Amino acid sequence: RYSEQFPEGHHLDLRFACTYQLEDQLGSGGYGFVMTAKHRVAGYEVAVKFIIKDKVPDYAWVDDERYGRLPTEVFLLDYMDHKNIVKGIDLFQDQLFYYLVQELHGSPWDKAARKMHTRQQLLQAPSILSAPPLAPSLSMESVDSAGPATPPSPCHPLPPGDSGLMPSRPPCSRRPSYDLFECIEQSPHKRLTEDQARHVFAQVVDAVHYLDAHGISHRDIKDENIVIDSDFNVKIIDFGSAIFVDPSIPRPHYTLFYGTTAYAASEILTKKPYQAAPAEVWTLGVLLSYLLQGVSPFPTVRDAVKGRIILENRIRFSDDAMDLLQFCLHPNPAKRATIQEIKEHRWFRV
Ligand code: ADP
Ligand code: MG
Ligand code: MG
Repeated sequence: RYSEQFPEGHHLDLRFACTYQLEDQLGSGGYGFVMTAKHRVAGYEVAVKFIIKDKVPDYAWVDDERYGRLPTEVFLLDYMDHKNIVKGIDLFQDQLFYYLVQELHGSPWDKAARKMHTRQQLLQAPSILSAPPLAPSLSMESVDSAGPATPPSPCHPLPPGDSGLMPSRPPCSRRPSYDLFECIEQSPHKRLTEDQARHVFAQVVDAVHYLDAHGISHRDIKDENIVIDSDFNVKIIDFGSAIFVDPSIPRPHYTLFYGTTAYAASEILTKKPYQAAPAEVWTLGVLLSYLLQGVSPFPTVRDAVKGRIILENRIRFSDDAMDLLQFCLHPNPAKRATIQEIKEHRWFRV
């Protein structure tokens, strides 16, 4: 077995095994698990999400013209094209799993496992899709053209934090981590500076604006689902809860909640039918609080229901930042900021 995560006697798809060498585990959950892997010939690293077919909920499938039924998550990584959304590179499958091969974005933020990663090689690699794919395989762009316009930078993460405490999310032993959760944990005061927060938040807002324009709601925006490099360039990952908002229904409402409770909007917590767009804006407000303060704006569910923001009193940030935070976290979804209003907010005009 290549990892504890695979069942006894499991065989990897042969073309995958010939192409990639599995390395470290990045995360795991009920849906499956994520590992890094190295391209055997070109040497660059990728992230591979192993999605257990049986665990993909009924709502999370789409019919693809070319490939038939696919998890929405797999479809979207191919379909979307935005600099702040992680790119799908390839797809494999066996009886149990889809293997969603993605660009490995970011820098490892885990102090113990902070090894150089091979973004440089990724950018220089020839198209990895030149090998004949087995069906179904996504005809994705080559990694070269999907890469960012900015040149790759060496891995210089933030200076280590002033405390050796481990993050509070479920431990995944000593894996390298590339996400914003870890980045915040490793930052000197366990939060970003206001300038860093602005830079990161603007990119996330840009990506969510793009999603909104394409009728897509991510529904699980949070620090763990954003990967970040040492220049604070970020990309959104994990479209496992995403949906297409049906354009034929003028104001569709949802009753079931698929995201993370700490990021759930007031109307979701009070079990009202909710609209996807304002609920997404709320998650952005919670994210903004994590960036600026390192903690949720709401110590209790009651505070969240009322939209009662509790500030960490030792932390100072500008009135404009506070205004945007309040606008995103308005308890009334009709009065909450729209993604357009966030984009145009004066906090970004510095
Ligand atoms: P889950 O649905 O279980 O939350 P994710 O897709 O969010 O799975 O992946 C789990 C973790 O793996 C993320 O929080 C992140 O730390 C890491 N990860 C996933 N995809 C990537 C990627 N493309 N680049 C870097 N890290 C990734
Ligand atoms: Mg996730
Ligand atoms: Mg998920």
